[in-house]
Amino acid sequence: MKIQDTKNGLVEFEPIKKGVIGMYVCGPTVYDLGHLGHGRSAVCFDVMRRYFIYKGYEVKFVSNYTDIDDKMINRAKEEGISVSQLANRIIPEYIKDYTALGVMESDVSPKATESIEEMVKIIEELEKKGHTYVLDDGVYFDVKSYKEYGEFSGQKLEDLKVGARVDIKEGKKNPYDFVLWKFKKEGEPVWASPWGEGRPGWHIECSAMSAKFLGEKFDIHGGGLDLVFPHHECEVAQSLCAFGLKSFAKYWMHNGFINIDNEKMSKSLGNFFTLRNVFEKYDPKVVRFMFLQTHYRNPINFSFDLLDQAKAGLERIRGFVRGLKVGYDDLPKDIHEIGVVKLAIDSKHEKKGFEEYMDNDFDLSGALGVVFDLVKTVNGLRDAKKLTKNDVNEAEKFLKSVDKVLNIIFEEEKDVDDEVKTLIKQREEARKSKDFAMSDKIRDELKAKGIELEDTPSGTVWKRV
Ligand SMILES: [Zn+2]
Repeated sequence: MKIQDTKNGLVEFEPIKKGVIGMYVCGPTVYDLGHLGHGRSAVCFDVMRRYFIYKGYEVKFVSNYTDIDDKMINRAKEEGISVSQLANRIIPEYIKDYTALGVMESDVSPKATESIEEMVKIIEELEKKGHTYVLDDGVYFDVKSYKEYGEFSGQKLEDLKVGARVDIKEGKKNPYDFVLWKFKKEGEPVWASPWGEGRPGWHIECSAMSAKFLGEKFDIHGGGLDLVFPHHECEVAQSLCAFGLKSFAKYWMHNGFINIDNEKMSKSLGNFFTLRNVFEKYDPKVVRFMFLQTHYRNPINFSFDLLDQAKAGLERIRGFVRGLKVGYDDLPKDIHEIGVVKLAIDSKHEKKGFEEYMDNDFDLSGALGVVFDLVKTVNGLRDAKKLTKNDVNEAEKFLKSVDKVLNIIFEEEKDVDDEVKTLIKQREEARKSKDFAMSDKIRDELKAKGIELEDTPSGTVWKRV
């Protein structure tokens, strides 16, 4: 299996310990509801995790919540509540959104404030090894003390320009020196440390939590592309210097941005969507499917048209699945005993096709193409009246198996509430007894609920419109 490592490019994936994978993904700062970018990152790494499990690996998945930083402090002040009250209110909202998107719960979801002791230990280690200096507002990491600084993100220290997320501070030996521990400021939460009361800088938390829950060396470190520099560059510097390692995360993987109508999504441009905004109008699984259709490393140019296309595409697969068993018993059993779909799947569409795409750095558009090909093949066989029971079983088996990774197809039975199911049944009864007025009335009632019925010679199939 090949994956794209941010530093080394396309590489063969081989876990440190056979059969076991440790993954750490940088999570959100929990001061407000999650937006599309958070959703995308969560879904990208969820699919990777699910695929590793599908392939038989045991995966330990850790993703943190940043619950202490400037944004947290400012928002809590605005609302007149404590930083921990803010975090405790927002974290369940993230869980709600991620669950709706079909993201598996992390094995560990640590809050930064629960690992302050571990962060302090790393800073002490860095101090002992001569990588730090103290200014009036905090303890800093001296990037010049680590000659590879910049290599991770492919930059030379001399070429780096001061930009976003780099604090300008008088007295810093280098503009890229970053704060490890911030000294106490009025009105901010503080913890004890050998340098006096204060709070951790941002970067140190992920070095501490990944080591705490996965060990100093682990397999995959992930996050959004915007985290490569400086966040992950700084993590690499800290962890390697403190732990005396040559490498800590064996592979680094980053997911691409979300643009809105070709512009960067930002609050100031007014083109900013929380997941909640989008879920008001679209099934969260449609949003998940939209994320899956673009390679995880490429940017997504988000628009509501794109969501509508995803809705139609997903409905095609789901409608297919619903129709798969309609008229099942009427299928000609005497012909094509082996199963034409089975033959088709074996030669072209089989699981191997799906896996071949996924093994190539999670090429989901290729993998989804295999699913759509199957839909086309089976529909063609049905039209030609050559579909057998065996075909149907094979197709269903295949879709159930790949949906363990995709997680978009089979869950919806639950969302068709009982009322709709009862109406569909009542209408079938009405049709059987030739009460067409009643049948039409129920059809209209269902249409008002966004459910359209299609009567086929072998039975009634419903779809969402
Ligand atoms: Zn992080």
